[in-house]
Amino acid sequence: MSSPESAPRPRPFLLACPDLAAERQGNTGTPGVWHFDSGVAGRRVMLTALVHGNELCGAWALKAALQAGLRPRRGSLTLAFCNLAAFDRFDPANYAPSRFVDEDMNRVWSEDKLSRPDTQERRRAAELRPWVERADWLMDFHSMSNSDVPLQLTGLEPRNIALARSLGNPAYVIADAGHAAGVRMRDYGRFGETGDNGTRSLLIECGFHGAPEARDVALDQLARFLCAAGTLDRTDLPAAWFAPDAPAQRALRVTEAIAARSADFRFAQPWKGLETLPRAGTLIGWSEGEPVVTPYDDCVLIMPSTANLRPGVTVVRLARPIA
Ligand SMILES: [Zn+2]
Repeated sequence: MSSPESAPRPRPFLLACPDLAAERQGNTGTPGVWHFDSGVAGRRVMLTALVHGNELCGAWALKAALQAGLRPRRGSLTLAFCNLAAFDRFDPANYAPSRFVDEDMNRVWSEDKLSRPDTQERRRAAELRPWVERADWLMDFHSMSNSDVPLQLTGLEPRNIALARSLGNPAYVIADAGHAAGVRMRDYGRFGETGDNGTRSLLIECGFHGAPEARDVALDQLARFLCAAGTLDRTDLPAAWFAPDAPAQRALRVTEAIAARSADFRFAQPWKGLETLPRAGTLIGWSEGEPVVTPYDDCVLIMPSTANLRPGVTVVRLARPIA
């Protein structure tokens, strides 16, 4: 509970909620998972949506792929609607709670958590795990509680940064180490190994959860990723799915994540993300009343958000340009 002046009205949620009655069946025996094999050599590509139940853009993109009858020309293609239990609670008037049921599904991808399936999200992740383990290339579709500018989160491995740059979109590529609170799907198993083991994994933040434009970003990313993987040729995909290339791409490396020590965290300004703060020591916010300041010059704020405030939750990441 907070006072009206400190609690900005939630942004209106304008992106429609997709009907997934047919899509949630899947064709694999695992609910919500679709798998198509070309019978031809090629990469095993996986596209995942709804790891967070209120992030609908990816579900729209996967639904479009199924409706268009996309089938891999090479290798195989797996489509997964991940946290359907959370999605089933989605309410556009109060969309934050449907992010998850028991815990964040993008923090459970480690043996210690997956072997203790005592939450809805761990049980579901355990169902999805064989598909994630089998995939060579993974694109995980997300959206954000605050920012409108799409971000490609690559992790720190050069192989994924290079792939993000080769896609030509979006403009911002963010190399980040993940979260103290747990391992993301895109960092799980072989995806988290160093060096080039042939895998690639990207997490695309398509924009604000409720923005209809986030769906367009997801379709563009889906199309570009499938072409880059060799799953499909550009002419196999609807031309309208491709957005123009970004005029330039900017790559930033996350140097640290600021985590909330408790629910008592406030920002000093209504940051939108991607602000560059020129001078070290600039005030970002207050954690339990203590100032949090930028540690170096030209510090860039990545995805500031107090939408999910709990102890240990990342509230903002700090980044500097990759030369
Ligand atoms: Zn997300």
